[in-house]
Amino acid sequence: MVIHLMGPSKTYNLRPCERCGFKPQAGIFKTCLDCFLDGHSLYRYEYDVSYLKLVFKRSGSCSIRDCRPVNQVVETTYRLLED
Ligand SMILES: [Zn+2]
Repeated sequence: MVIHLMGPSKTYNLRPCERCGFKPQAGIFKTCLDCFLDGHSLYRYEYDVSYLKLVFKRSGSCSIRDCRPVNQVVETTYRLLED
């Protein structure tokens, strides 16, 4: 399962997902991986990369900043989901 911010979907199938029950709409949701990907590929965002790597990587794929600890990220994500 993935908790994520969902923008407007380009999917025209408005039936709820058989795996997670998600019906495409904008907002913060907990969905299965297929709903999260919405037909796109999975990419791994990298944190704490060198400035040189940042310059040569595709825009929006990495940051020179550190990531918050995993427990903080999960806690924040669940709080946003519940709000
Ligand atoms: Zn789903």
